[in-house]
Amino acid sequence: MERRKPYQLVSRDWKKENTVVEVNGSRIGDDREVVLIAGPCAVENEEQIFTITEYLSKLGVRMLRGGAYKPRTSPYAFQGLKTEGLDMLRRAADKFNMAVVSEIMSIDRIDELCTYADVLQVGTRNMQNYPLLRALGKINKPVLLKRGMSSTIDEWLLAAEYILLGGNEKVILCERGIRTFETATRNTLDLTAVPLLKELTHLPIIVDPSQATGVRELVPPMCYAALAAGADGLLVEVHNQPSEALSDGAQSLYPDQLASMLDPIRYVAALYNRVPDFDKKNRVTNPVS
Ligand code: PEP
Ligand code: MN
Repeated sequence: MERRKPYQLVSRDWKKENTVVEVNGSRIGDDREVVLIAGPCAVENEEQIFTITEYLSKLGVRMLRGGAYKPRTSPYAFQGLKTEGLDMLRRAADKFNMAVVSEIMSIDRIDELCTYADVLQVGTRNMQNYPLLRALGKINKPVLLKRGMSSTIDEWLLAAEYILLGGNEKVILCERGIRTFETATRNTLDLTAVPLLKELTHLPIIVDPSQATGVRELVPPMCYAALAAGADGLLVEVHNQPSEALSDGAQSLYPDQLASMLDPIRYVAALYNRVPDFDKKNRVTNPVS
């Protein structure tokens, strides 16, 4: 007999059809589309963010990621440019008609993030920050909920349930690797989660091979594998000068590496009758304002 599920609103039994989260004309969770979110780990300075954003826009990328509040393991590591970083990110995105995805670390910054960003990312370290999840249930912006690095699928879905319970249905799940005994990679990418979640929930599921592997050479193959597993999209880190990056340089793609991934992404998507959002032409100008 099937086990009774501990969650309700996120479950496929509760809602049969896919939830589609629309951002700047991209449809996350639409089974005819796959989306690509790309950008540096962190916003570092004007030149960096404008250079990489211009490059990404030429590839057709529609969603720009970049951390302004960075949850770093060490308190001595670069913590992000905060408000100034959000402002740069927004201006760069607006210049090239892109949407902004950026991390929210604490409740007191929600209003600020909602002002600057189109999608609020909850990082792996905050997946179980229940007051934060409850507060995000009250906003009218999509939430990209990363999997806790040691969280089970049930715990992750229950975290999403907190947000839906507050009234916000726009939740995008993001598999970003889990902790295992393996040390050759930063985390272990659990691609099983993708088809399993497609059964269990109506929410979109995307994959972040950058945090999952920690090694840039491993990112392209894991992107194709993620799409083959049925992911609704990819989140990747890319930097104009990875060797100079202030965070996560080793896992950041070179710009031309990302460019060379677009064709394979197209091919894998086409096998499933899906079209990458970077090939669509219906961008919305200035999505936030
Ligand atoms: C990130 O996307 O840069 C990040 C910090 O992600 P995670 O929370 O998955 O480690
Ligand atoms: Mn990162």
